[in-house]
Amino acid sequence: MSSERPIAVVTGASSGIGEATARRLAAEGFHVVLGARRMERLKAVADEIGGTARHLDVTDADSVAAFTEALPGCRVLVNNAGGALGLERVDAADEEHWRWMWEANVLGTLRLTRALLPTLVESGDGHVVTVTSIAAREIYDGGAGYTSAKHAQSALHRTLRGELLGQPVRFTEVLPGMVETEFSLVRFAGDEERAAQVYAGLIPLTADDVADAITFAVTRPSHVNIDEIVLKPRDQASATRAHRRG
Ligand code: NAP
Repeated sequence: MSSERPIAVVTGASSGIGEATARRLAAEGFHVVLGARRMERLKAVADEIGGTARHLDVTDADSVAAFTEALPGCRVLVNNAGGALGLERVDAADEEHWRWMWEANVLGTLRLTRALLPTLVESGDGHVVTVTSIAAREIYDGGAGYTSAKHAQSALHRTLRGELLGQPVRFTEVLPGMVETEFSLVRFAGDEERAAQVYAGLIPLTADDVADAITFAVTRPSHVNIDEIVLKPRDQASATRAHRRG
């Protein structure tokens, strides 16, 4: 693959924050390589923004190897693929849900980052953005599978900042609160009513609000490292406290 434009890889770009980020980075002049499992949606976005759609399942090491093959000039990696499954208390934990959350959020970030770090460093101006969550700093009842995965993903990401110190690569962690995407629909196995309840009576962030923050970090001068961006709706004070109208 060759491109005149610098390459930005966005995982989980078939919907939500990843899709919005792919659009924003393309507008900033990047050739965006979009990865996710739903190829039709991925291809539609890629065609619109002059990017490249590639199948990616971050829970599968072979898929990551095929996806990351031949990405010369890759400058930016956005580790965004992931999410939550279920809301069971620890005493009723579903191990399959836990396994998926750890595979997608934690090991997915490890696999992509490990595969692309040499190219990012070689570019002379690399950047790894990892979308964790306020769940990487907070906990809540029923959320242990997700919050433990996001805490671990965050620890992995922040470790890299020290390990790569002195190399030409930046690290930014983005920690959103409530964003209205397909996140809750996935978490509640397609239950639209339950998903809608999450955002009822408040104004959540949009995917584009988060993409805007990611793009801000990426477009700072090369010597400026935005370490963390925490963004929440004005109506949300914490993972467990929100103001709802009506
Ligand atoms: P979303 O609309 O459900 O998007 C999730 C994306 O991840 C989709 O493109 C999905 O694509 C992809 N994905 C899931 N499993 C994957 C896998 N195994 N391999 C490759 N791609 C995979 O939700 P979102 O809100 O934009 O979530 C993006 C990130 O933000 C997640 O890491 C989430 O934890 C985090 N976050 C979300 C919120 C929120 O309130 N929405 C808040 C804080 C943090 P395919 O299904 O096509 O593979």
